[in-house]
Amino acid sequence: MSIKTIFVTGGAGYIGSHTCIELLQANYNVIVYDNLANSKLESLRRVEQITGKSITFIKGDIRDKDALKNAMTGCDAVIHFAGLKAVGESVEKPLLYYDNNVLGSLCLFHVMQELLIKNIVFSSSATMYGDPEFLPLTEVHRCEATNPYGETKLAIEMMLRALYNSDKDWQIALLRYFNPVGAHESGLIGEDPSGIPNNLMPFITQVAVGKRKQLAVFGNDYQTPDGTGVRDYIHVVDLAKGHLKALEALGRFECDAINLGTGKGYSVLELVGAFEQASGQSIPYIIQDRRPGDISECYADPRKAKDLLGWEAELSLNKMCVDSWRWQKHNPDGY
Ligand code: NAD
Ligand code: UDP
Repeated sequence: MSIKTIFVTGGAGYIGSHTCIELLQANYNVIVYDNLANSKLESLRRVEQITGKSITFIKGDIRDKDALKNAMTGCDAVIHFAGLKAVGESVEKPLLYYDNNVLGSLCLFHVMQELLIKNIVFSSSATMYGDPEFLPLTEVHRCEATNPYGETKLAIEMMLRALYNSDKDWQIALLRYFNPVGAHESGLIGEDPSGIPNNLMPFITQVAVGKRKQLAVFGNDYQTPDGTGVRDYIHVVDLAKGHLKALEALGRFECDAINLGTGKGYSVLELVGAFEQASGQSIPYIIQDRRPGDISECYADPRKAKDLLGWEAELSLNKMCVDSWRWQKHNPDGY
């Protein structure tokens, strides 16, 4: 069966909206289903502006099976982004995270099974590797969630593996993202965190645009070249293209976890330096204590994605910074 209509849960969000662009440009029909808990409809209006194509938007919650069933009928595949993602909040409100992410995914998979829609690309996370035993991280690294958010990702991966083991008609890709940053090069869509950003790049861009005084660097006593934490930052447009490749490769591999990263690690101070160079803005910072739960270093072995999907990240750290800055500069208050 050829795949034409894609049901994108959480498609109004940061990664989802960028993925919608790639899907529309590849001539798929796109139905976005999102409760707008952490996004604005304006993101999709801008996706339409960028692509000149239209999206069907349905406001709804993935825990609402009846609404899901109505919305999903006739779709061929699902890309499942919907979920809450703030690690700190998940520690404070674990039940909210289990309810939204795990119960929500369970409802989604039930409806998929009922409607015989058995193609799915799922947003998983490198967070479930915990503190790396070896680097670069391959997909066989042990998984141990260290917070409720990570636990929900692990639980959903396990549900999907079990489903596949019970019925090999399911075609499933579990994409483990590293650290998405950057924005579409139009500057029209990008990451729009509510409140104080948890993540490094949006914090840096908000300092650059004058919304925050300075960056707090969480620790400079890690066992890394400059003492600050190292991560595998990946341009969100590369990540979005990875979803398209995964969708097109569904069925060519077993239900499997696949890293989406660049394979290169950069420290906090390297990212700050790259951003300053790309933007011409200086980013004042202070060194603070380590953030509880943070690991020292984390980067992907991205070879499996290349082998199975024919995908690899192409965009540089400079491009990530240039595009993040363009988005923030033109949209200082987000959407
Ligand atoms: P995001 O918050 O921008 O997007 C998630 C979207 O899901 C939002 O639009 C939100 O409104 C929607 N949503 C949440 N709960 C919902 C529900 N119950 N029903 C319907 N819609 C709901 O986040 P993002 O950065 O685009 O992340 C997308 C996915 O990728 C998430 O599942 C996240 O856990 C995962 N992920 C993100 C990162 C990252 O660093 N951004 C890293 C690894 C994995
Ligand atoms: N970080 C920081 N200051 C901030 C936010 C993050 O120094 O305000 C550091 C953090 O300790 C980690 C890196 O930046 O080493 C990436 O953090 P982020 O929260 O973006 O992603 P994570 O890898 O923790 O999911």
